[in-house]
Amino acid sequence: MAKIQSIRGMNDLLPAESPVWQYLESTVASVLARYGYRELRFPIVEQTELFKRSIGEVTDIVEKEMYTFADRNDESLTLRPEGTAGCVRACLQHGLLDNQQLQRLWYTGPMFRYEKPQKGRLRQFHQIGVECFGMASADIDAELITMTARFWQQLGVLDDVELELNSIGSSQARADYKRALVAYLEQFVDQLDADSQRRLQSNPLRILDSKSPETRKILQGAPSLADYLDDESRQHFEQLKSLLDAVGIVYRVNPQLVRGLDYYGKTVFEWVTNRLGAQGTVCAGGRYDGLVEQLGGKAVAGVGFAMGIERLCLLLEATGNIPESVNADPDVYFVVAGELAQQKAFTYAEQLRTRLPGLHLQLHCGGGSFKSQFKKADKSGACVALVLGDNEAEQGVINLKWLRDMDKGQQTLAWDDVFALLEQQFNL
Ligand code: ATP
Ligand code: MG
Repeated sequence: MAKIQSIRGMNDLLPAESPVWQYLESTVASVLARYGYRELRFPIVEQTELFKRSIGEVTDIVEKEMYTFADRNDESLTLRPEGTAGCVRACLQHGLLDNQQLQRLWYTGPMFRYEKPQKGRLRQFHQIGVECFGMASADIDAELITMTARFWQQLGVLDDVELELNSIGSSQARADYKRALVAYLEQFVDQLDADSQRRLQSNPLRILDSKSPETRKILQGAPSLADYLDDESRQHFEQLKSLLDAVGIVYRVNPQLVRGLDYYGKTVFEWVTNRLGAQGTVCAGGRYDGLVEQLGGKAVAGVGFAMGIERLCLLLEATGNIPESVNADPDVYFVVAGELAQQKAFTYAEQLRTRLPGLHLQLHCGGGSFKSQFKKADKSGACVALVLGDNEAEQGVINLKWLRDMDKGQQTLAWDDVFALLEQQFNL
């Protein structure tokens, strides 16, 4: 029978890898809590219309990356390609943005895009996303970005990432700029790559993001978006930069930075690394003051970002920033053979778990010789093996064997003395 495989670009997260994910997620979650963010969970599937209306019809995501299907009721549904749309939908549906309530929210989970799978680019990937509603001024943009810097600092990768920053202005400013950009690029239309030629009509700003060397060369002479910024956006951007300066966040203004989703305006930013090859953006976001209204709510300002968990885990690995304590190895492996011993070990193990809640204890189950159990104990990564046979069980003692520190050998202890010893050994 042919083996059934996972879908291309959709990975299993194996037990050996999950501790790093948990470490990353819990580190980020604790920083988020320190800044007053609350978690929101919303479905993976939404009405297709939600994404079309928010992300924009002529973006890469909506044009060619969405997993869209008709359900049994012939309704068009889509696996979420990003989180902002669903987050806004949920906020509107539950009135979270009514009465000018301020909201600082975060979410995490899988996103789906039909892309060409490669290192750091998957079809099911995972993001931690953050959104803030009801705050139009640049202080919140600055706080968000400062918080992301704190993530990197806590994870030990602050020196491996760079912040790129831009303002893409008001929709009027972008419209004016688009005209100038198109007029300029039309002179070179034959030399542009095919995607950019197509975008010249549909979404010219995205041409700034083109990776084609010929197109990039032409772009060097293009008009700059910065020259078209409206006064309000300019002031907003100045305030953002001065707040970042005040807390020592280093950034590079990249006038060609645009985002792939239509809903952004004013602030856009990306954290990029050169440690991961082509997929170097680990976190990206910006301001989207028009989106809530576009999805049927009142005019409520919004700003947020999302980071790619896979890329961040790759970065932690590439930079050697996975602390040694990040693993799922037990502290103690409990080896047991004999009928009486088995009975006793079962109750001993529960006593240990009750009295030492911080201890990671793995009780051997399923029988087998001492020899085969010791092999498993060694492999488990535990530092200590507790060993109980029928003789020890009868006498109320237990053998303790040091698995890493071979010099320390083995000792026999009264059961009641085991608690204090383990408590001290593992700093519980
Ligand atoms: P890229 O330019 O790399 O395609 P994007 O602009 O499409 O990224 P966003 O929609 O802004 O990405 O998503 C935010 C973050 O999510 C990205 O910076 C990246 O870290 C991660 N990400 C996006 N798409 C993928 C993917 N297909 N696989 C893995 N991570 C992804
Ligand atoms: Mg993309």
